Amino acid sequence: MKILVPVKRVVDYNIKPRVKADGSGVETTGVKMSMNPFDEIAVEEAVRLREKGAATEVVAVSIGVQQAQDTLRTALAMGVDRAILVLSGESPEPLAVAKVLRKLVEKEEPGLVILGKQAIDDDMNATGQMLAGLLGWGQGTFASKVEVADGRVLVSREIDGGAEDVSLSLPAIITADLRLNEPRYASLPNIMKAKKKPLETLQAADLGVDMAPRLTIVSVAEPASRQAGEKLGSVAELVEKLRNEAKVI
Ligand code: AMP
Repeated sequence: MKILVPVKRVVDYNIKPRVKADGSGVETTGVKMSMNPFDEIAVEEAVRLREKGAATEVVAVSIGVQQAQDTLRTALAMGVDRAILVLSGESPEPLAVAKVLRKLVEKEEPGLVILGKQAIDDDMNATGQMLAGLLGWGQGTFASKVEVADGRVLVSREIDGGAEDVSLSLPAIITADLRLNEPRYASLPNIMKAKKKPLETLQAADLGVDMAPRLTIVSVAEPASRQAGEKLGSVAELVEKLRNEAKVI
């Protein structure tokens, strides 16, 4: 079985995002970019399934600008076998990404597609679900455990107030949640080896996918800065403030 893992290049999670001066989006020029953290978890899970013998090949795909090939090289260094870069311009929307992925699924015929549950730049949490809808496949979203056996995949899902187990027939879509695994660091020898692994580049237009945006960003603003706290002398003072100033009790 082949596993397809879509990985997105996003602003590194350690960086505090800055809003562009014209309020049209988040500044990415000169900013450290990395693989979306949930996609690292998806890559790790796919590589582990191959190491356990449940899969034979893991293919990573990224849709975006040329520099997304760095993200794909990271995936290759983590153990992915080969990679596909689909050039489409900056920030394609989830529906466009899902349509590109559908084309690649038709070409590559994977048994599983493992995505991140959400990209930390736009927090859409939509691409996996849209892809499942387009393909008519079952989906196990927010996965905290994945087991492949007898032509099915068992997914434990993180839901409000507990866990839900779903059994899906293959092929299927999975989206990775935080507790699924702890992704490995790519070792230096593996980073060197990754440079020689195959990376194919395609144009979104050649796949016949309409990438035109459906959404318009009206404005982007920084969250309001928090007010400084205040130290109080006694519990009685706190109760007084909560009652008469904050009016919450
Ligand atoms: P989103 O729906 O934007 O929150 O993204 C959910 C998941 O879809 C991500 O964690 C990735 O696995 C995948 N994804 C979204 N955008 C892209 C992209 N441009 N290239 C590759 N994978 C993507």
